[in-house]
Amino acid sequence: MQHFPVFMAVKGRRIVLSGGGDAAIAKLRLLLKTEACIEVYAPEAEPEVVAWAEQGLLKLYRRGIEATDVMGAVLAYAADEDDLLDARLVAFALEARVPHNVVDNLEDSAFITPAIVDRDPVVVAIGTEGAAPVLARSIKADLEARLPSSLGFLTRVGRSFRHAAEQLPFGRKRREFWGDYYASVGPQSYAKGGEGAVAPALAQLLADHLTATPRKGHVDFVGSGPGDPDLLTVRARRALDAADVVIHDRLVTPAILDLARREAMIIDAGKEGFGEATPQADIDAMIVKHAKKGRHVVRLKSGDPAVFGRLDEEVEACEAAGVSFAIVPGITAASAAVAAIGQSLTKRGRNSQVRLLTGHDVKGFADHDWRALARPGEVAAIYMGKRAARFVQGRLLMHGCDPATPVTVVENASRPDQRVLSTTVAEMEPALTEADMNGPALTFIGLAPRHAVVQARELQEAML
Ligand code: SAH
Repeated sequence: MQHFPVFMAVKGRRIVLSGGGDAAIAKLRLLLKTEACIEVYAPEAEPEVVAWAEQGLLKLYRRGIEATDVMGAVLAYAADEDDLLDARLVAFALEARVPHNVVDNLEDSAFITPAIVDRDPVVVAIGTEGAAPVLARSIKADLEARLPSSLGFLTRVGRSFRHAAEQLPFGRKRREFWGDYYASVGPQSYAKGGEGAVAPALAQLLADHLTATPRKGHVDFVGSGPGDPDLLTVRARRALDAADVVIHDRLVTPAILDLARREAMIIDAGKEGFGEATPQADIDAMIVKHAKKGRHVVRLKSGDPAVFGRLDEEVEACEAAGVSFAIVPGITAASAAVAAIGQSLTKRGRNSQVRLLTGHDVKGFADHDWRALARPGEVAAIYMGKRAARFVQGRLLMHGCDPATPVTVVENASRPDQRVLSTTVAEMEPALTEADMNGPALTFIGLAPRHAVVQARELQEAML
């Protein structure tokens, strides 16, 4: 980010602008939304600017701007569309230490003006650092359509209730009250009875919330998918939006944690395959403890919580403690990895079943029905399988597996650093060790990447 967005206090302070033509008019339209004292310096000004001056919306000086005019202003705009005049204003502004903007000139500006969606006091500022003004305009159009025009009014009424709402305890109860107001009671009362109906409806809502019995805690076991936030379910996003506490696994990516409600407490309960671990019993106890305090707990697990996720232990802990829970499924690593190689997990005439295996279990490398796995056409997806590669290879060959059977390893499926290793049972070791994969990886036995996908990737790599 080369430009940091801030909201500057301008009420009653001076903003100076040099210029009286079209560029000046465009900027003044925005500036007139503020409660600043706007001063325009222009020997010649368009009738629109003159009219604003006559209405008392701004002060118009019919002369060029001078150094003393800039002093003490909060912002200075160079809108003459003339390089020499612009440079003059920039020099004045630098001297007076006033942040300056040269219209349509990113390089010479100390700040830039964003596209604005105005639902005062709700203001959305959109910037692309000058890279894509068209995109900024289309985002603005989207937001204009999405944010009801009543939003500003509802927010002003809400503001006048902030003090009264402090009767509700800070945290979840107060949040729920405001959530109900902005999501339903506010817009509904406005739609039914106009401006006059909103304050009474809000007063009633507050009374209802003050007399309501406290809510019980709840746990959502949420699948976060393989890492790409686009692969979260809508329900997972809603749960993250409402969470008081998020307890997550090591494999849950930062981009997904960013989607949690800003005030939520985020707890890393990471368990590394062979390293540091939070004992399972501690995690179970932590989930129950937070839920018992009446909190909405989101237990966020990578992929699908029901696949190698130790879900049952945590669910049983909730049941034993009488805590309500729900399971929100997610996209498991095998689904994301098979999509990455353009294949499907089952295929008519090839395999009518697919096995999800773990490479290691509590006793070490996990044993499986190797004879069945070694049969031609079988497909297996091995989770946590990197270290077990040599063991798996040995067992498959021992049970008569064709050494040419394809093996594909997908590391970091769905993430920007996704990598695909295509090999065979005969060569999977040392190929896997040599590939030196550090991210989570899923191994397919019996699947090779689809030819077209390989070609597309090679083309992409050649272009880089
Ligand atoms: N519940 C998870 C699995 C947890 S076990 C799920 O449904 O996906 C952890 C293993 O999942 C890792 O060792 C790796 O084998 C696999 N895995 C998780 N995320 C992955 C990803 N983005 N790419 C490849 N494999 C992944």
